[in-house]
Formats: sequence, structure tokens, C-alpha cells
Amino acid sequence: MSDYDYTYLSYGCGVQSTALLVLSALEQRGVPKVDAAIFADTGDEPQYIYDYLEIVKPWAEDHGIPLHICSAGKLSADLLETDRTFVAIPAWRPMDDGREMPMRRQCTREYKVTPIEKKVRELLGYQPRQRIKEKVRCFLGISMDEVTRVKPSRTSWVTNEWPLIDARLRRPQCVDIVEEAGLPKPSKSSCHYCPYHSNKYWEWLKKNHTADFQKAVDFDIAIRELHKDDPMYVHRSLKPLGEVDLTDYQLSLWDEECEGYCGI
Ligand code: SF4
Repeated sequence: MSDYDYTYLSYGCGVQSTALLVLSALEQRGVPKVDAAIFADTGDEPQYIYDYLEIVKPWAEDHGIPLHICSAGKLSADLLETDRTFVAIPAWRPMDDGREMPMRRQCTREYKVTPIEKKVRELLGYQPRQRIKEKVRCFLGISMDEVTRVKPSRTSWVTNEWPLIDARLRRPQCVDIVEEAGLPKPSKSSCHYCPYHSNKYWEWLKKNHTADFQKAVDFDIAIRELHKDDPMYVHRSLKPLGEVDLTDYQLSLWDEECEGYCGI
């Protein structure tokens, strides 16, 4: 018997959170059925994520889990059109000594965590700022190989749990769980221009999803147009994305945690 009145899955549309959705839907490996799965759309996911949502949403709903999609708006448009620097992405800037430093990341909270929690309030029937009476739990799809991303909730009425870690599952096992359920293997979910991407991912995107890679190249140029006195880049090399040698995988290691909300 659960101590919680309401459990939701923060659904990222990547391998691990899809495996967790499957385990919850089928009530396997000790994972109970969640009351809802919620995907926060930044408006800037690669097209393959929107295509995958079209497949996984009816599958989840056929298995008794409503999959809601919420959004705080289109992150790139807010950054470029309204210059809302308070929702900053972790773009790279040169420091005085020439080394690179990412900007403080606020996008995950503004465009992932907050819209999901707002949706939970709405599903529970609360108005903004009303005190939540239920005991609420959030399941996050983080596997054993990403344990550094485990972080407690910063929201007082939400408790985070990581069932894939409790079940001691790693990424390859998560892929098997998804495929055994008859779903296609998911790909990484995150904004196409996310400055945390590795060269390996950029190169894969360029080769397999050229239109999305081009959007990232265009966005990278646009943020420098907007901040001419304070140049920033989506690539850690501090070079325009379109000019980077993406075959050099060694230069792209950046082990930044993201609390399991963005699939980076
Ligand atoms: S994927 Fe990257 S840019 Fe997009 S919300 Fe997450 S951290 Fe920010």
C-alpha cells in the first residue's frame, strides 16, 4: 500500500523514462501504476521526439496511464524575441582567461519542472498557490548509470523517487524493456540546441536529422546577433556550431547533471 495519494511520472520521452512508463503501465519490477505521465514540451525538441510522442501517448493510454503534454511556451522564441535572460540556457561564454564557462541554467526549472508541477496542481483540482493537501510523489526515469543526476525535489509538496535505480536497471536493460513492450527504441530528448550536447550527439543529429541540426546552427548564430557585446555559443569550443569538427569526441565531455528532466 503506497503512502502517497498521487504519483506522477515526469516523462522525458527518452530511453529511461519510456522504460519506466512501460514498467509502471505493466506493473512490473515492483513499479506501481502512476496516476499520470506528464511531458513538458520546450517547443524545441527534435521532430523525432514529437513523432515518438504520437506513438507512445496512445500506448500509455491503452495501458491505463494518461499522458499529458504541457508547455511554458517556446523556449528559443522567448530567448530570442523577448530576451528573457532569466530563463537562460547553459550557453558557453569565454571567461577573462579565455576558458569556457556555461551560463547558469534556468531553463530546466522554467520550462520543464514548473510546467509539470503546474499541470499536477491542475489535475488535482488546485488553483495556483493553494496549499496541496495530498501526499504527492514524482517518479523520474534515471538508471544506475546516471546516478549522479539523482536530486531531491526542491518543491515542498513533491517527493522524488527513482524506481529504475531501486530495480538496479541500467540503460541497455531499459532499451530491452521498451522493445519487449513492442515500442520502438526512443532517442535522446532535449532541445536541439542544448549546450550540454556531446559531439557524438551533434554529429548523429547532423547526419540523421539534418533539419533539426540546421535549426541549432541558426539558433547559435541568432544568440550572438542578440548579444553582440557578450558572445555566447551553444558549443563548448566557443566556435559557431556549423564550423565545429564534430568527429572529435574527446573535446565534448561535460558531465552536467540535469535532475532527470532533460534527456541530456
Ligand atoms: S535540454 Fe538543455 S536547453 Fe533544453 S531545457 Fe534542458 S538544459 Fe535547457
